[in-house]
This record gives sequence, structure tokens and C-alpha cells, in this order.
Amino acid sequence: MAASSKNPEGGAGVDDPSTAEMREACGVIGCVLARSTPDGMVNVARMIYLGLVALQHRGQESAGIVTSEGPASTHFNYQKGDGLVAAIFTDEKLNKLKGDMGLGHTRYSTAGGRDPTNTQPFMVHTRHGPLATAHNGELINAMALRKAIMDRGVGLSTLSDSELITQMLSQAPPRGEKAKPDWGARIRHLIEATPTAYSLVVMQEDKIYGVRDPFGNRPLCIGRLMPLGTANDDEQRKPLGWVFSSESCAFQSMGATLMREVYPGEIVELSPDGVRSLDIVPRPKRTAPHSNAHGDPDDIDHETILLGPPPAFCIFEYVYFARADSVFEGQQVYSVRQRCGRQLAIESPVDADIISTVPESATPAALGFSLESGIPYIEVLCKNRYVGRSFIQPDTRSRKLAVAKKFGALSENLMGRRVVLVDDSIVRGTTVGPIIQLLRQAGAKEVHIRVASPPLKHPCYMGINIPTRGELLANQKPLEELASHVGADSLAYLSIEGLRKAVRQGIVLKNNIPTGHCTACLDGNYPVNLEW
Ligand code: SF4
Repeated sequence: MAASSKNPEGGAGVDDPSTAEMREACGVIGCVLARSTPDGMVNVARMIYLGLVALQHRGQESAGIVTSEGPASTHFNYQKGDGLVAAIFTDEKLNKLKGDMGLGHTRYSTAGGRDPTNTQPFMVHTRHGPLATAHNGELINAMALRKAIMDRGVGLSTLSDSELITQMLSQAPPRGEKAKPDWGARIRHLIEATPTAYSLVVMQEDKIYGVRDPFGNRPLCIGRLMPLGTANDDEQRKPLGWVFSSESCAFQSMGATLMREVYPGEIVELSPDGVRSLDIVPRPKRTAPHSNAHGDPDDIDHETILLGPPPAFCIFEYVYFARADSVFEGQQVYSVRQRCGRQLAIESPVDADIISTVPESATPAALGFSLESGIPYIEVLCKNRYVGRSFIQPDTRSRKLAVAKKFGALSENLMGRRVVLVDDSIVRGTTVGPIIQLLRQAGAKEVHIRVASPPLKHPCYMGINIPTRGELLANQKPLEELASHVGADSLAYLSIEGLRKAVRQGIVLKNNIPTGHCTACLDGNYPVNLEW
């Protein structure tokens, strides 16, 4: 496989070689109020704000919210800025975002870099009124698509995939349109032109569309915005509106409940009248297109989605990216992480006194390791939550103190003990060595590293920033030499099969939707041919 349009070393590059690990690329929110919701009862901009705060872990560089005041409006209201969501959206800014529907986005840059002009949602004026889009991911054939659209005389002012998507949607599909724009057909045409790796929300004046690529590589789910403080049975209560979110963790913050995920290749429409599944675009290799719109979001076409290659949902959403309380494929991320820890204890047991972790994302895996091994879980590191952004350290002393700035060792828990330190992943391996040193200095007798995911060896072309091949620890030394390389008594990773098993075990899916996971950065098997 070749990757003509991408950096052959993988990843979009990271600015700070001393700190950069794997990075997620964005969170999206869409929100529409029901027609029956009384005026002033729910403030859409504030709902989107709450959703974005819950998705902050997916991107911290910039954020934007755009709202629509309905069919008669000639423009959208838009506020954006750099930094964290809570710092950007002051009361004054939120008050300007009037309207009963809107999109929100929080960004970590991949395609397009950190240029503020790439902040999403992206907005254009079309012949049929304003159009806004926000996405998570990266179009795998973006360079070819950019060339194709510029060949048609359209100029692009940024490097952002969102601008490209917006421009592609501004154009009528090849099959043409009658009097009005057919947004379902336009989106379908976009999906057919680019098979992965994105989730997308699109707003025109009175509707929002949520889309997952046919491989379902990036997550997107649908929720109901519910009245607060009433009975628990959603079916008995009238929703106040509907929402899209990259992760279901945002629904709790917004007072919404999870309906289901958007299926791979599906186009779902939210309007003041409810939720409609418009279409499911099959994964490539299928010839007969399917394009009948149907109204019931659970009434899906099995024939379409059961054929073709399997989906390729990013397995690192489970390992690392998603918030532990989010639900994918019917299971909570926390439970998967705990099963990864259990499986790791089965595959690579170690004679030790305590199990611990680097706070906080690997805590469920460490607890799983502890439950399976019967060795107690005890905290050994205290994290400074106010350490702020990491900068390139200019001198050796500062570099050596970088880990100590972030973590303090709990020496009374460590003294004379053999410690198993569970981490969720090791990317460059630049922090694990200093942490081991810190634990030894605080009295640990032995330090064994157990990694609750397999070795990262390959670049990601699907929107996740992974350092270059040569920088990945697993490519620097043979596995048997890694322990001494980082200063550990032993080091072991979870196997790829073990990770798959931990993920598959709890999947609960309705309607026989097929499942499948991308593991390309672990095994080099990319879901699509990368020659574009
Ligand atoms: S290559 Fe790795 S990080 Fe990228 S989408 Fe696949 S599993 Fe996720």
C-alpha cells in the first residue's frame, strides 16, 4: 500500500517532540429543538456549549458554535475562538447565538494545521441559503478531492477538510435536482466520493444532518433532549429536541438520553419534527446503489449494510480517546478498558505486591488487572492538575524535571514493594522512563510495565496524529529489549487478539448491524486501499 497524498511517515506532525503522544481530532455537536417546545424553554447555544465542554478531551485548540434562526434567516449566527470552550464562550457571546438549532465543534488540528481560519464549524453562503459543516476525522483522499473541486473552478481559502466538504455540498449532485436542493443526495454524493474517515454534521436553514463514513471509523450518536426531573421512561415523555454528538458522554451534560449511534454510511436528518434516517451508503465494492429515504430511524435496510467489507471503527476510541462513560456499540468504554486490564493480567502475569497506574486514563485497565490477578490496586502517583501546557524544555535540568512537575510519587505506598504499573498505551516512550525512575527513587523495589493495548507500529491515515514510524517506541527496539531500554524490570503489551476479544465481548447491537474495528496502527491492515 502506498499513501501518495499523505506524509509517508504518518501523522500530521506534532509540534512538541517532548510531549506529543496520540491525539484525537475533534468533537462535534448538533442540536435541534422540537416544534412543540415552548419559546424560551431551552437555549440551544447553551446546550451546545454544555455538549462541547463534555467533548473537550477530543480537542483543546479552538471551538465554534453556529446557530440558525430558521427558514426565513439569510445568515447564521457564529461565535468562535482559540482555547478551551469555557474560556471562549462568555455569556455575551452565547447571548448572541440566537436560534432553535445549531452546530458546535471543538478542535484538535490534523489537516489544516493550527491556523485559526481552520476553526470549525465552517460556513458558506450557497444559492439556497447559508450552509455550515463541522467534522471529526480526515478525508483519506482529500488531496485528490481538492484537485477535483479546484478543476471545476472553485477556489479554496484554507487547508481544512471542512471547507472542502462544505464546497462539495454546495454543488448539485451529478444526477441533478428539481426545484429545491436535495441535501440527502448531495451528502450521498460526498460519501460516495470519500469512503473514510469522518463523522460529519451539516446544517442548512431548518435541518441538521448527521453522517458517518461507510466504514464508521469515527463515532457519532443520536440523543433525545428530555425535560429534566421527570420520570425515567423516555417513551412516555415528549422530547424537547434531538442532538448529535461525537460521544454519548455529552448527553448527560445536556440533559439528553442516547437513542442510538448513527450507522456506518448512514445519513440521519434532525428537524423540528423529529429524526429521520434518509439513507445508508454501502462501503465501497458494492455496485448497486441504495437511495430510498425512509422515515423510521430503526427501519434500516439490512441487505445494504450486511454486504461489503466490515466496518472499521477506530479501536483506539475504546483504548484511549473516548471518555470512559461514553457508550459505543452498546457497551460503556470503561468496561472495555477494564476487560483489557483483565486480559493483560491473563496474558502477562507478574509476581508483584501492588498494581497501580499513571493517572488517570489507565485506571480502569489497572483495576481490571488487579481484579484478575488478585493483587491489590494502590495509587503510587499524585497528579498535578494545574500543570498547564507542556512546552519544549530548553535545558537538560528542565527536561529531567518535566515528569516530576506533573507527578509526585506516593513514597509510603511504594517503599520496598514490587509494583506493576499499568498504562493504556506507550507511543514514544519518552515519559515512561522518567516515571519508572521516579518510582524507584521513592522506594519501589521492582517496577513492571504492563501496557493495556498492543504496540503501536504504523501511522494512522484516518485523522489521528501518531508520531512518525521511527519515533514510535515499538519500532525502536525488539520487544525483549524494551524493558531495559526504559529502565523497567519487565515490560509487556496486550496482544492484538486480546484487545479484539476485550472489545467484542460486550458489544450489544440491534438490527444485526455488522461490526468491525480498525487496527491499522497496530497491524498495518488499513480498511481501504491508500493509493488515491
Ligand atoms: S489506524 Fe489506529 S488510530 Fe487510526 S483509525 Fe485505525 S485504529 Fe484508530
